[in-house]
Amino acid sequence: MTRNDDLRARYEAAFMPNYGVPPLALARGEGCRVWDADGNAYLDLIAGIAVSSLGHGHPALAKAVAEQAATLAHTSNLFLNEPEVRLAEKLVALAGGGARVFLTSSGTEANECALKLAIKYGKQNGRGYFVAAENGFHGRSMGALALTGKKAIRDPFGPFALDVRFVPYGDAAALEAAVTEDCAAVFLEPAQGEAGVIPPPPGYFAAARRICDAAGALLVADEIQSGIGRTGTWFAHQHEGVVPDVLTLAKGLGGGLPIGACLAFGPHGTLFAKGDHGSTFGGNPVAASAALAVLATVESEGLLANAADVGAILAGAGAIGHPLLSGARGRGLWQALVLTAPKAPALEAAARAAGFLVNAVQPDAVRLAPPLVLTPGQARLFVDALPAVLDAADKEN
Ligand SMILES: *Cc1c(COP(=O)(O)O)cnc(C)c1O
Repeated sequence: MTRNDDLRARYEAAFMPNYGVPPLALARGEGCRVWDADGNAYLDLIAGIAVSSLGHGHPALAKAVAEQAATLAHTSNLFLNEPEVRLAEKLVALAGGGARVFLTSSGTEANECALKLAIKYGKQNGRGYFVAAENGFHGRSMGALALTGKKAIRDPFGPFALDVRFVPYGDAAALEAAVTEDCAAVFLEPAQGEAGVIPPPPGYFAAARRICDAAGALLVADEIQSGIGRTGTWFAHQHEGVVPDVLTLAKGLGGGLPIGACLAFGPHGTLFAKGDHGSTFGGNPVAASAALAVLATVESEGLLANAADVGAILAGAGAIGHPLLSGARGRGLWQALVLTAPKAPALEAAARAAGFLVNAVQPDAVRLAPPLVLTPGQARLFVDALPAVLDAADKEN
């Protein structure tokens, strides 16, 4: 039995079956390459779902984590630590100033914070319901799941205690009709990630800002997947020059360490009173040091420009001309290859056999969300291999 198969069998016996059994055990990584437990090498074009922004084993991340773990690994919120203070200041500066921060250990928790802020705002102003998008994804806890518009993962656990009304994503008129003066907040991804990297029509986010302003509802931008440079700007909402009232971040922020953040702008930054919210691990100095290393490296290595430039090479894969491929959608290093048939799982497997890790995010869409350090040469390697990978996937039934 191979090492991969041994670990897969033990995984299956030891874990709850909610993930199924992943196809590979990954053992180590270097830059954009990873090796499985049997020593096979892959080009990593998914980065643990848009998380490993600096790739694997980046010296800046390794140094920051090792030094902080050796100095002080935890304080709780009974005490503060310098890394969390520096991180909060840096995030506020990147978001344009005028915000306050709550740090978490995951994206779901960042959205729970945003939801509790919105509930408090609603109670203070007599606003009792929330609006979110069909097929949107905001997390799996009972609050975040109540906002999640993906029926298959939501319906088995309903009903929910919150009044959440869903609108078709990208339809500004539907949003306008749904958001009245009784609406507390609108939760939106600037482009839908789990739904298959679906960008809205141009101007949608700016329209959402205008609609929320007119009704007095909070606009919450869930940038847990789209933020931290993935689309070529620090935050995807910046493409339309829009500032949300609340911004949630996670995935790429820690470069692999578990950290999330909720930023609230202007008066909303002081909505919580002492005792309203908390997290034992939130503001953890190791995770905060990792995030500081990620943000500093995105700047020092010019990774925003790299995401735009190398993303354009990946997007070019959409135009190679193949009967199974209808095109690419997305922005920067966040793309979906859209198929003409529901063969994404077969394509994912064929890519893996050819040495590339990608993700069948929908039956007809394959997600690419590689490390932000992906080089033009590595992107071309994938584009050049794609015709044969598509052929192999096409032969599967
Ligand atoms: C991944 C994701 C979440 C949930 O984050 P976790 O870290 O898995 O809790 C929420 N919203 C969006 C848009 C995401 O992509």
